[in-house]
Amino acid sequence: MGLNDRPALVAAASRGLGFACALALAREGARVALCARTGQAAEEAARRIGSETGSSVAAIEADVSTEEGAMGFVRDGAERVDGCHILVANAGGPKPGRAQDMSDDDWRAAIELNFLSTVRMVREALPHMRRAGYGRVVAITSSSVKEPIPNLALSNAARAATTGFLKTLAREVGEDGITVNAVLPGRILTDRICQMARARAGSEELTEDEALAQQAVDVPLGRLGRPEEVGDVVAFLASARAAYLTGCMLSVDGGLLRSLF
Ligand code: NAP
Repeated sequence: MGLNDRPALVAAASRGLGFACALALAREGARVALCARTGQAAEEAARRIGSETGSSVAAIEADVSTEEGAMGFVRDGAERVDGCHILVANAGGPKPGRAQDMSDDDWRAAIELNFLSTVRMVREALPHMRRAGYGRVVAITSSSVKEPIPNLALSNAARAATTGFLKTLAREVGEDGITVNAVLPGRILTDRICQMARARAGSEELTEDEALAQQAVDVPLGRLGRPEEVGDVVAFLASARAAYLTGCMLSVDGGLLRSLF
């Protein structure tokens, strides 16, 4: 895939989708640096990927919802893996809730976490990509950018802003050999989905397994996704093989979305 030896930074990657992206890139030979808010979790993830792939993965403690955390991750990560050809812009998800119930502080926190984190990491990564003449920005957003999800108001709004940013950026940096794409997960079996299922189980008198099974009912492929199925798509978008794909918002959702585009 042309990923061998390419420096790749993967944010928010101690578990879940970020971890799966880091693992997929390391499997293809990329030199990976990853981060999480707790250094210990980041180190543990790096060790697991290292023992599975034989590569050395750099672990960095950084909270990408802050300016210093987001920019510092790219700065330090690029130093550790000698550049940044690939940036996987990922973060945790904001708290659930209705649009009408959120305070200004809630909106600000979600914008910092899911919008400004991407803007800041990209800003810091672009000079490295320009120097290399190769750049792949891959953001993890959500199927909600095509079809907002009830009771996830913060996520719906912040990711719409991120999508506007990415589509604008794609046109600006194409001539530098940099592509900008996003992967839109539907329902992928990670801690976050389990947590949300637990919350629903509590309020609707279901078991967690029943709540999870309900999530899969309207997925045409009949099951929740596996994190590695997102990781593999991200690795492809980061690869030389995806050179003519940019500005693409790619759903990885087992067919969940009904929209034409
Ligand atoms: P997850 O299982 O909760 O994992 C989140 C990862 O991000 C952890 O490694 C966590 O590590 C790290 N993290 C969280 N906040 C961070 C921060 N501020 N700075 C740095 N690292 C941070 O979540 P996931 O399911 O993989 O989801 C990843 C993203 O995709 C989220 O934004 C989520 O909303 C979105 N998404 C997921 C799905 C799905 O089906 N799973 C669907 C649509 C969208 P620490 O706790 O150690 O920091």
